[in-house]
Amino acid sequence: MEKREQLYEGKAKKVYATDDPELLIVSYKDDATAFNGQKRGTIVGKGVINNRMSNMLMQMLEKAGIPTHYVEEINERDTIVKKVSIVPLEVIIRNIAAGSFSKRYGVEEGVVFDTPTIEFSYKSDALDDPLMNSYHAIAMKLATPEEIETIKKYAFAVNEQLKAFWKEAGVTLVDFKLEFGRLSDGTIVLADEISPDTCRFWDSETGEKLDKDRFRRDMGGVEDAYAEIMKRLSEHL
Ligand code: ADP
Ligand code: UDP
Repeated sequence: MEKREQLYEGKAKKVYATDDPELLIVSYKDDATAFNGQKRGTIVGKGVINNRMSNMLMQMLEKAGIPTHYVEEINERDTIVKKVSIVPLEVIIRNIAAGSFSKRYGVEEGVVFDTPTIEFSYKSDALDDPLMNSYHAIAMKLATPEEIETIKKYAFAVNEQLKAFWKEAGVTLVDFKLEFGRLSDGTIVLADEISPDTCRFWDSETGEKLDKDRFRRDMGGVEDAYAEIMKRLSEHL
């Protein structure tokens, strides 16, 4: 399968058409952005790691009964995926307070929740991805009530699978962002990516950050952190 026209260039990936109208090729870049594109940089090797990690994790989730867009990895940066119409919501699951949750509610980073939380942000760069509840999403016809229920069910199931996997690898899954989409028949599937760009990973022993926070917060050791989290994945598959 080959790339045809480029349909979209995002902050972290390019999306190409293929000869099959139901399939796309996503190509992972080393470009990194944060704070809605205000901070820009390059993380050398990131695209290769995010492509591999996302594909490995999505295959694991498929085995656990969660439908995803993953079809086939064709080289170290490019993957064939099922084309979806993206539900314009960022679905965020949290196990531990961090990032915008800590800032918004004045809760120290690292506070462990008894039960995971879910929240939605409206995917809109122009509006800076505002927080949105499910009633707002339904009122704006971004998703139906049934789709919201399906998305919530899958998002919590993804959390249980990933949390257990990463625990074995000595990594605490703090929080993460998912995107879902509709196939041409309306079926909801997990799309986009699952990677150190979209998850917070803390070393279970040392608490060391092994994710994009090292870039966001100018902590240094960004490439090493991506390599380390990829190594943990490979060793524990
Ligand atoms: P952004 O758009 O936020 O800059 P990316 O650089 O990751 O993000 O671009 C990838 C784009 O492709 C995103 O807009 C994402 O919603 C979209 N996308 C991810 N998976 C699929 C899919 N299976 N079908 C269609 N679009 C997808
Ligand atoms: N996240 C993401 N894309 C976004 C916003 C958040 O992938 O546009 C991820 C982020 O990596 C973290 C989780 O979602 O794992 C929660 O992020 P948070 O709301 O704390 O926002 P941030 O601290 O990134 O502003």
